[in-house]
Amino acid sequence: MKAIILENSNDSLTCTLGTTSLPPLGDGEVAVDIHYSTLNYKDALAITGAAPVVRRFPMVPGIDLSGIVSASRHPDFAVGDRVVHNGFGVGEKHWGGLAERAHLKGEWLVPLPDGISLRQAMAIGTAGYTAMLCVMALEENGVAPEQGEIVVTGATGGVGSVAVHLLAQRGFEVAAVTGRVEEAEYLRRLGAKAIVERTELTGKIRPLGNERWAGGVDVVGGTVLANLLSMTRYGGTVAACGLAGGMDLPTSVAPFILRGVTLAGVDSVMCPQPRRRRAWQNLARELDQALLESMIREVPLEEVIETAPAFLDGAVRGRILVPIC
Ligand code: NDP
Repeated sequence: MKAIILENSNDSLTCTLGTTSLPPLGDGEVAVDIHYSTLNYKDALAITGAAPVVRRFPMVPGIDLSGIVSASRHPDFAVGDRVVHNGFGVGEKHWGGLAERAHLKGEWLVPLPDGISLRQAMAIGTAGYTAMLCVMALEENGVAPEQGEIVVTGATGGVGSVAVHLLAQRGFEVAAVTGRVEEAEYLRRLGAKAIVERTELTGKIRPLGNERWAGGVDVVGGTVLANLLSMTRYGGTVAACGLAGGMDLPTSVAPFILRGVTLAGVDSVMCPQPRRRRAWQNLARELDQALLESMIREVPLEEVIETAPAFLDGAVRGRILVPIC
């Protein structure tokens, strides 16, 4: 099969488009003919070697895939089923989605809900599914539209774009934080009511700032998240899922103990199946497919390697879809 292949010899990483073959299908595994994959921030880290996300070599990267079951040794899946896969260490520890086929544990797979095509599933991808997990975390912590404006950081990126749209669909007034104000029109089309320059959240961090937002979705981490916490209103919640701006969190306990702010951590990789499937059902119901289409750029497998560094430069807008067959 055709695949992107990562190899590491003597601590030197190479990434090429080549051909390889899968090992025989194991017990409890499902063979999937991949129709679409995507590029996410984590794939860019793997392909460029910018962070050690890949744990075994050779590796086929790609944390996401959608496709059709071609063989199954798992009782819940049969030939012809439409499936979507995100996370569970695929593309890091197990061969992933930037290839024509994959062998995956049946317990990892999600049957694709009616109303979502294989293409749309990957237009959503891990980024969109994580955006939904963030929205669910806000809702579960009692954040509601009548409490006031909600903020999304890294708004033009994959998680951010989908989060802006989903929150607007649920009736929230959304403030989109971006380093690219020239993309304001794009963000307004997704449903943002206000555009906030990222520099407003990169200044000196005060233990408590003016109470500005009822809650937020943060993909950036670092100073931006620290400022966001200090500007969250009494009782608000910030769902944190990313580190595009840094791994650290230079904050104090003040927002938590003086304003009752909640920091809700969101992980998509090991998210249990019932919650994962609920997120996908919500996405099938709530996403405006025309708007989703406007977030996509298609990149063929042949151009994946040269496209990946754009994520690390913060230069990707919306979602990157990789058609496979
Ligand atoms: P993208 O690259 O598509 O989006 C990230 C956005 O963050 C950029 O578009 C940019 O938006 C902003 N940004 C980039 N660099 C910086 C910087 N140095 N400082 C501040 N803002 C910056 O990535 P994804 O949306 O795919 O992923 C976003 C983050 O979420 C990543 O860290 C990723 O690893 C993480 N993630 C975590 C998941 C989980 O399970 N917890 C799942 C999926 C993603 P703008 O120009 O608009 O400011």
